[in-house]
Amino acid sequence: MIIQKSTHPRIAQFDPQNFSFGNTFIDHMIICEYENGKWGDLKLIPYGPLPFTPAMMGVNYGQACFEGMKAYKDKDGQVFLFRPEKNFKRINRSASRLAMPEVTEEMFLGGLKALVDCDRAWIPQGEGMSLYIRPLIFATEEALKARIANKFMFAIVATPAKSYYTAPVSVKISDHYSRAANGGVGFAKAAGNYAASFYPTQLAIEEGYEQIIWTDDATHEYFEESGTMNVFVRINDTIYTPPTSEKILDGVTRDSFIQLAKHRGIDLKVEPIAVKDVIAAQKNGSLKEVWGVGTAVVTSAFEAIGYQGEKLELPKLGEEESFALILKKDLVDIQTNQAEDPFGWRVLVENTITETV
Ligand SMILES: *Cc1c(COP(=O)(O)O)cnc(C)c1O
Repeated sequence: MIIQKSTHPRIAQFDPQNFSFGNTFIDHMIICEYENGKWGDLKLIPYGPLPFTPAMMGVNYGQACFEGMKAYKDKDGQVFLFRPEKNFKRINRSASRLAMPEVTEEMFLGGLKALVDCDRAWIPQGEGMSLYIRPLIFATEEALKARIANKFMFAIVATPAKSYYTAPVSVKISDHYSRAANGGVGFAKAAGNYAASFYPTQLAIEEGYEQIIWTDDATHEYFEESGTMNVFVRINDTIYTPPTSEKILDGVTRDSFIQLAKHRGIDLKVEPIAVKDVIAAQKNGSLKEVWGVGTAVVTSAFEAIGYQGEKLELPKLGEEESFALILKKDLVDIQTNQAEDPFGWRVLVENTITETV
């Protein structure tokens, strides 16, 4: 790895009590360029703009995919990643589907650890704090030709993140728009999947909802995901979540929730969720909770679901009664080293670069 440390670090001006998530970037980034059929040197360099033209294929044809993950700092200042090998495997599944070269373990996990180690001072400490990390691969070839590009970049950038608390939101069950289709790219973290979801989400916002529950594209009769998160439904004391598929992204948080529920002995079924069953359960009072899960906010609880013009309220459960909140706490306690990790999910980021460079 080639390491070029910043000569103008901004860390001294960073205020962990007062910063803006998503547009405050740590001092360094990782880049690696693919050309002539192979990846070049992995580089850790100062964060900043790169020279591209509007003829870059990634922005014209959308050959781009990404990952979202976090690093956490415990009370003693130790830094951990959470199940990073899951993100490594997933970015390569996304890359393959989008006809982009896969990255090596050394590039992904090695780059991740070096970057987080180097900029560990940027990771805010305390309740709900973390570093949000964005690995990505995109086509950089300068050509207006609708075909697989022959130049790509792998990069990792990161932004400090705070509080997991998000107020319960109301969500609209989609009966027209779809996020994914059979044979499509729904299982991949393709950049274009997000672009395609913004307009329907904006329409839902104009109707008084915050988010969409995506249903299957053929019939709109089954739940798939919620916004950019996987979805869980609790009816009486059983949790349901749909199986992953070509259309349902295999979320790390989803998988962790499933394992944590089993560990606690909570009844959980991975099976298709029919919209009509959820509506019927709401009407007869057995629908207890509906929530989304993903790395960014861990859990987003829903207070109401909209279906065909009707807004159906969900019960307000306390912290001790809500499976969503109980499992969220179990997960966050493991991520932040406040609880035993029986699953071996935490990965310590060794302190090397900061001391040797
Ligand atoms: C990233 C993502 C998720 C959540 O995955 P996590 O690994 O839990 O962060 C769920 N659905 C979609 C569509 C996503 O892009």
